[in-house]
Amino acid sequence: MNLRALGQFPSYRPRRLRQSAALRQLLSQTQLSAGQLVQPFFVRAGRRVRRPINSMPGVFQLSPDELVRSAARAQELGIPAVLLFGIPDTKDARASGAYARAGIVQKAVRLLKKELPELLVITDVCLCEYMSHGHCGIVQRDRRGTRILNDPTLKLLARAALSHAEAGADIVAPSDMMDGRVAAIRGQLDKAGFTDTPILSYAAKFASAYYGPFRDAAESAPQFGDRRSYQMDSGNAEEALREVAMDISEGADMVMVKPALAYLDILHRVKEEFGYPTAAYAVSAEYSMVKAAAAKGWVDERAITLETLLAMRRAGADIIITYAAVDAAGWLKEK
Ligand SMILES: [Zn+2]
Repeated sequence: MNLRALGQFPSYRPRRLRQSAALRQLLSQTQLSAGQLVQPFFVRAGRRVRRPINSMPGVFQLSPDELVRSAARAQELGIPAVLLFGIPDTKDARASGAYARAGIVQKAVRLLKKELPELLVITDVCLCEYMSHGHCGIVQRDRRGTRILNDPTLKLLARAALSHAEAGADIVAPSDMMDGRVAAIRGQLDKAGFTDTPILSYAAKFASAYYGPFRDAAESAPQFGDRRSYQMDSGNAEEALREVAMDISEGADMVMVKPALAYLDILHRVKEEFGYPTAAYAVSAEYSMVKAAAAKGWVDERAITLETLLAMRRAGADIIITYAAVDAAGWLKEK
């Protein structure tokens, strides 16, 4: 844009177009609507269970029956999709709960698709919640230390994705950050006839302190070490673009940047560079920090939440996954 060719004061007065609410609405360039939001849910076994998560006020671990109630409420408010995380009763070193036919996510998907067939069900595909050690892949320990094995993990991820598709998941979303997982999952799905099941890949997922409260929610904190050998370094933008390019070339239908708020530059570059359907994941601490400040009366929760989600849209997000989806959809309706 050549700024010198544009209007100059006093003939040009930008304030002319901000004089009334109607004018501002007419010229508003970025829209936020419930139809772009995804509400994540944490599901665990039981009946009538709504277990609050201390570090995420307003978020609960839900039994499948309660999940259906909460998901129905989201759908009523115009939210088209939910994202499921499972909390299994038992964990092991093969993450068997991640791909068990009767696993908690598989059960929840079947129930949701039966009760709310129009609601899109996205499943998080990862192993950490199901591994006794809490890492997203198979762990090898020897004299040299501990490593997360890439290639053997791919088989388990593909099995998990297939089990979700078999249960009726509309979209599978791998979040592990192993190399080659999108191709492995696409191959497995296609072989089993699920050629129409889209993959939303957590393509640029950064190792982040913003995931803190989530680990309480999903009970998935690593028992040793951290996730820096597979999740990305916060400073690396070029690498994020390569990760996205790689996932697209392997068959990702939609790509995600996670976290959202501290990575809006990445989100913008991904959208500009690839033009693919792009999701932003506003993660747990993004939610909890607003809740905490609002509880102290330091910020206006509604205004700050809607402004932040709008910023993600402006940066390039087509889809926003946020724990505040139901709240935001309610506020947008009142507007
Ligand atoms: Zn994981």
